[in-house]
Amino acid sequence: MTLLEPLGLDAFYVTRPENVRYLSGFPHPEDAQVLVTQEGAFLLTDPRYPEAEQESRIPAKVLKREEKEEAFKALRGRVGFEAEHLPYAALEGLRELAPAEWVPTKGVIERLRLKKTPEEVERIRKAQALSEEALAHALTLLKPGVLEWDIALEIEFFLKRRGAGVAFPPIVASGVRGALPHAGASEKPLRAGELVTLDLGAKVAGYHSDMTRTIALGRVDGELRRAFAATLAALERVLEAIGPGKNTKELDALAREELKRFDLDRYFVHSLGHGVGLAVHEGPALSPYLEDTLEPGMVVTLEPGVYLPGMGGVRIEELVLITETGVELLSRFPRGWQEV
Ligand code: ZN
Ligand code: ZN
Repeated sequence: MTLLEPLGLDAFYVTRPENVRYLSGFPHPEDAQVLVTQEGAFLLTDPRYPEAEQESRIPAKVLKREEKEEAFKALRGRVGFEAEHLPYAALEGLRELAPAEWVPTKGVIERLRLKKTPEEVERIRKAQALSEEALAHALTLLKPGVLEWDIALEIEFFLKRRGAGVAFPPIVASGVRGALPHAGASEKPLRAGELVTLDLGAKVAGYHSDMTRTIALGRVDGELRRAFAATLAALERVLEAIGPGKNTKELDALAREELKRFDLDRYFVHSLGHGVGLAVHEGPALSPYLEDTLEPGMVVTLEPGVYLPGMGGVRIEELVLITETGVELLSRFPRGWQEV
């Protein structure tokens, strides 16, 4: 197996659901693992999934608990495991079962997932298109007095009725709550004169989308309107610069530089963006703390924001595919100032 040799491993035990799904296509990866051995890669699951053989691209073994233990007892040599995912107690159990050397690994399958195949991009595209329909629907419901969580529920309901899942519980943050980047949705009613931040994504065949729009409910002026203009300028500056070969840390810095021109950079309290795929948040990171180089096939978000404590906030998030020559915007929803 080509995966094992460069790692210096005799076998590799993959437990993170997104990685299990990536290697097997199995749609219930929370209840399955992949064991890569010299003989090949196998999906391991249990009798709740008798159809695993048909649902997996790689050979599947439907095993009872004792049978699975037998499979581990046969392992020898250096066996890799996913140190960021396998709980310590589970590792202890494996050590008792298998007379092998258990070797911690990090990011092995995650690195393979960075660049998407056209099929993967298609799923993300589909998830994104559904999210945009859901957002258009949500905007028709934005009115003073409506509760944030009712809007969030409508988005969820809309996506599920179309056979998709939600990538994450939609964020609907209005007024002062807009200053909280991960506010969720609360019982707060919307009021005229507020900004409303809506951050949503769908999930199609395991793949996610992620997009944010900030909408004005009625007339909004002053500092919030200026924060919107600054956020949009930062986003557009990054969109002009982004492409294959670009350094993610520098792109993040570019957004901050633009916000600084408005003297608002200190209110941008999170990273510029992240990869999207089988996980909503995956590599590469576009952040001040990590450096990656963008490559064709990567799908990333660009999401500058300005969060003014006690006043409100703005975030605009686009989803883009890095191409050979630049980027393709996967999010098409108008991003400019919008009043409803
Ligand atoms: Zn988002
Ligand atoms: Zn995001």
